[in-house]
Amino acid sequence: EKRGGTPSPSPRSTEKSGKDLTRSGDANGGAGAGGNATPKGDKEKGVNVQVILRCRPLSDDETKGNTPVVISCNERRREVAATQVIANKQIDRTFAFDKVFGPSSKQKDLFEQSISPIVHEVLEGYNCTIFAYGQTGTGKTYTMEGGGTRKAKSGELPTDAGVIPRSVRQIFDILEAQCAEYSMKVTFLELYNEEITDLLAPDEPRFPVLPVPEDKNKKPIALMEDGKGGVFVRGLEEEVVYSAGEIYKILDKGSAKRRTAETLLNKQSSRSHSIFSITIHIKELTHESEEMIKIGKLNLVDLAGSENISRSGARDGRAREAGEINKSLLTLGRVINALVEHSGHVPYRDSKLTRLLRDSLGGKTKTCIIATISPSVYCLEETLSTLDYAHRAKNIRNKPEVNQKMMKSAVIKDLYSEIDRLKQEVFAAREKNGIYIPRERYLQEEAEKKAMTEKIEKLGVDLEARDKQLVELKELYDAQMLLSAELGEKLEKTQKDLEDTRHALHDLEEKYSEAKSTIKEKEFVIFNLQNSEKSLVDCAYNLRAELENAAADVSGLFSKIERKDKIEDGNRSLVQRFRSQLTQELDALHKTVSTSVMQQEDHLKEMEDDMQSFVSSKDEAAQGLKESIQNLKALHGSGITALDNLAGEIDMNSQTTFEKLNSQVQSHTSDLEKCFGVIALGADNLLNELQCSLSKQEERLAHFANKQREVCNILRH
Ligand code: ADP
Ligand code: MG
Repeated sequence: EKRGGTPSPSPRSTEKSGKDLTRSGDANGGAGAGGNATPKGDKEKGVNVQVILRCRPLSDDETKGNTPVVISCNERRREVAATQVIANKQIDRTFAFDKVFGPSSKQKDLFEQSISPIVHEVLEGYNCTIFAYGQTGTGKTYTMEGGGTRKAKSGELPTDAGVIPRSVRQIFDILEAQCAEYSMKVTFLELYNEEITDLLAPDEPRFPVLPVPEDKNKKPIALMEDGKGGVFVRGLEEEVVYSAGEIYKILDKGSAKRRTAETLLNKQSSRSHSIFSITIHIKELTHESEEMIKIGKLNLVDLAGSENISRSGARDGRAREAGEINKSLLTLGRVINALVEHSGHVPYRDSKLTRLLRDSLGGKTKTCIIATISPSVYCLEETLSTLDYAHRAKNIRNKPEVNQKMMKSAVIKDLYSEIDRLKQEVFAAREKNGIYIPRERYLQEEAEKKAMTEKIEKLGVDLEARDKQLVELKELYDAQMLLSAELGEKLEKTQKDLEDTRHALHDLEEKYSEAKSTIKEKEFVIFNLQNSEKSLVDCAYNLRAELENAAADVSGLFSKIERKDKIEDGNRSLVQRFRSQLTQELDALHKTVSTSVMQQEDHLKEMEDDMQSFVSSKDEAAQGLKESIQNLKALHGSGITALDNLAGEIDMNSQTTFEKLNSQVQSHTSDLEKCFGVIALGADNLLNELQCSLSKQEERLAHFANKQREVCNILRH
């Protein structure tokens, strides 16, 4: 029977190692040595799972059908946006990843940018796992294995070659360039309905005595605990790879098996997981020239279509089958959730997939997830769920560790004992001197053995679970003790607090009664205040009424003064007119007087002239008539005196007229003065009255102010 998985290498790989030793003459096995390149910090904090997103282009059919595209990739910003239309509103959801590859990305770019560094780490001695996760038809297999092209010119890989052939190619290239001594083995298995199928097993069973499974192409294989917390697949075929070109032979072998199954089992590939593992042993020399074997492993996992999660257990008849099919995928999701949320129990044991890849999820393995999506609107729901899932997985932390190097001598010892065992088997078979038992008994014993191993396995699991439970319980007990100690402290503190609170309450009660009495006082004061306020308001009303009356009085007074002003104005104009008339009359009088004076003078002159002429005429006569002249002289003298009297009389007349006028003017002026006096007296009386009422108001206001002051004093007290 063959043995598979890690850590002990199979006989076939020994063979290969031997061949390698001869092939690469210079044994500078330590290529890429130094091993642990991981920074110290990684070990304690862990490294996040790397999540890469790849969106495939529209297929020809989709392009022909004008399928709307709802995904846009921003490779530079490492973001993917999904456009959703809900109730006529466009909603963009953006997700960030460690790397984003858009529809136009090439297989080569994805490998060189994201996978090549991982391959280097495998060669450093790490275990690395790459998952492809996504809806069926989004390019998981395309990304992992590649398109259909198998042959390309001159040994080059075809452009659509996927991660698996490129990784193998790179491993060979690097190790050959380093002239390292190495061997590479691959295994390829499929997990369907919680059953493992070896995709590399030869078609016909080697030992016809073994019970033949119903499906002739498939040999169910058990998953075994290796006793160190890991699992290995018992009886898994390991194929040694000698050159990169062989990889397609192996892939085709596996895919062929899968493909036959596909037709038989109704699109099985969308519901099955495939795990392609590459194990590399590299020889290294230590400083003491000891030969060590460095081991690196790369797992490439093509998961079942993610749509199987949501549709699990949906249909009646096939519900159980569906449940089984999706158990692994569902458990993977639960494991991721538990790891992300750091909940205590991680359900690795619930499915074979998570048992096989336990170390890739939160363990010592470096893990990368390639999430694949379609840009089409018809896949949007599934795409969003893939984006959510992948985004969540970003938070898983692993603690990568380099695999322990094995002494070459130890490896060789292991291998020798393996060879011995096999030799004995061959010998027994050839010589037919082994133990022969009836076939039925053999079958029975085999069945028993199988049952026993299963039981042992189960017991081991139980024991582990119990141990875990014990540890958990102990932790719980410790936690409870801590809690109770804390609670005790808290209780003490609370009691102290209670005492304090009681004191405070007492103080508060005292304060409360004080406050009550002050409130009563305040209430009394307020009552008084309200009363005084009322009386004040009454007072104010009265005052207002009085003030209104006073205002009416004042306005009456003003109108009286106005009227008086008008009368005074009338009087003034009258006096003015009278004065102007008087001056006119005086002027006229003056003129008549002056004219009469002039006339008198004229008369006088005339009379003088007449007298002169008379005198002169009489003079001549006088000469002759002297006597008569004497007489005449006397006559003339009397005549002159009479004339003088007349003149005096006229003079007297004019003087009396003047005096009369003066007396008249004087009487007018005195009348006016009297009139002015009367008016002034009236105004004085009015002013006196006004002053009287104002002083009365003043007194009242003073009285009011005094009252206010008293009220204020009362308030203050
Ligand atoms: P899955 O394995 O996820 O179900 P496949 O890998 O079978 O999907 O891809 C479905 C189809 O889409 C295949 O015909 C494949 O060639 C094509 N395809 C997927 N991804 C790409 C890509 N990035 N570029 C070109 N064709 C692709
Ligand atoms: Mg596929």
